[in-house]
This record gives sequence, C-alpha cells and structure tokens, in this order.
Amino acid sequence: MLRNLLGASATADTMLEAIARDAQETGDKTGRPVFGDAVMDTMHTVPRAAFVPEAEKPFAYENRPLPIGHGQTISQPFVVALMTELLDVEPGARILEVGTGCGYQTAILSELGATVYSVEVVAPLATAAAARLKALGYTQATVRAGDGHAGWPEEAPFDGIIVTAAAPSVPAALVDQLRPGGRLVIPVGPAGATQQLQRLERRADGSCEAKTVLPVAFVPLTRGPA
Ligand code: SAH
Repeated sequence: MLRNLLGASATADTMLEAIARDAQETGDKTGRPVFGDAVMDTMHTVPRAAFVPEAEKPFAYENRPLPIGHGQTISQPFVVALMTELLDVEPGARILEVGTGCGYQTAILSELGATVYSVEVVAPLATAAAARLKALGYTQATVRAGDGHAGWPEEAPFDGIIVTAAAPSVPAALVDQLRPGGRLVIPVGPAGATQQLQRLERRADGSCEAKTVLPVAFVPLTRGPA
C-alpha cells in the first residue's frame, strides 16, 4: 500500500483495480459501469511493459498514458479497456484500428480473438509495432503504414472500427466500411482540446445510431505522414 502511494509498484493487478474503479465512476455516462470478464482478463494478460520504451517500463502498469516517441503516446489503460468494451468484440471479429502507435490496443483486440487490421501514419511506429506484435505471437494482426482516414477498403466490411486519434468529425469512409450492426468507437473534437468519445452503430439502411460516451484527450488524427 505504502509503495503504491509512492507510485513505484503499479502491477497488472493494481492496473486492473484502477480500471474497475474508473469504470464504476464513469458508468452513468458510459452505460458500462462494469466491464466484461473477457475485456478485464485480456487487460490483465497483455504485458503493457512490452509496449513502452525502456525508460517508461517502471511506470508501465500505471493508469495513465506514457510517451512512446515520435510525439505519440500509449493510451491510458482505462481508455483502452473502455474503447474495447464499447466495440463488443466477439472471437473471430474483423476489426479495423486507426492509430496503431506501439500496438498495445492491437494486442488487446487480438488477445480477444479478433483479426485486426491496423493503420499507422508514422511509418517507423508501424514497422516497430508490426515486429513487436509478431514477436509476442499476435499473428492475426496486420499493420500497415498509411493515413487511416481512408480505412482499409480491401478488407472491409468490419465488425468494428476503433480510431485512437481525435478527428474533428467522423470520417465518412470509416462508416462506409462497417457492416450492418458494426460499431465505430472514435474521439470526435478539436485537436489539443477535450474531445467526446463517440460510439456509432450502423443500421441496416446505412444510417448510424450515435451515442456520446465520455470526454477524452487524444492526439490528433493527422492528414498524411507526420
Ligand atoms: N492505439 C494506440 C494509441 C496510439 S496514439 C495504443 O494502443 O496506445 C495514436 C496514434 O495515431 C499515433 O501513433 C499517431 O501517429 C496515429 N495517427 C495519427 N493520425 C493518423 C492517421 N491519419 N492515420 C493513422 N494513424 C494516425
């Protein structure tokens, strides 16, 4: 306990406790006060320490974003868990991720049994994430360098699309690549300010039911190579 207060001993267990606490506290807004067992087990299983630079490893299990280089971050564990929960991932699902970063969210989705297609605009991050995922045995994940605004039309339609960078509005190409009943989870709002996490579900007629979930702070979804 004392060591926790000093911030030196966050573990996968204390990270899970922090996620459960945040889920409870935000449950009235998110509609998900308790995350599913599969999501929580997966957050416990995937070693976050394997996704952060050497200097950040002592803090790997703290419930906050950490720098990963190239001006980018690994997202806060609670936010990763929440977005995963909102995607309602079934084993075998086909998921598109925009914003691979270090590949942590990619690994979480893979661990849940999804086939993941992930796009990252910073080429060296895409290369490093692909190698890391392969080394950890996540062979059902494919990473490519590029601008995720266009999605991945060759592999559409998707059961779920997760965007882990903030867009001023929902890119139309992404909605087009959702199957009927598919879910899109995306932070929408201005760069450098608070955005609103949104969950959209595509109806059979192509329209979407949208719900605003929670204020969040993401790096911007850029246009082209950074
Ligand atoms: N999913 C990551 C979060 C990475 S942060 C995790 O698990 O922690 C967001 C990432 O989105 C950054 O790596 C950034 O380079 C990337 N990004 C920004 N704009 C993009 C775009 N247009 N297309 C693809 N990736 C983009």
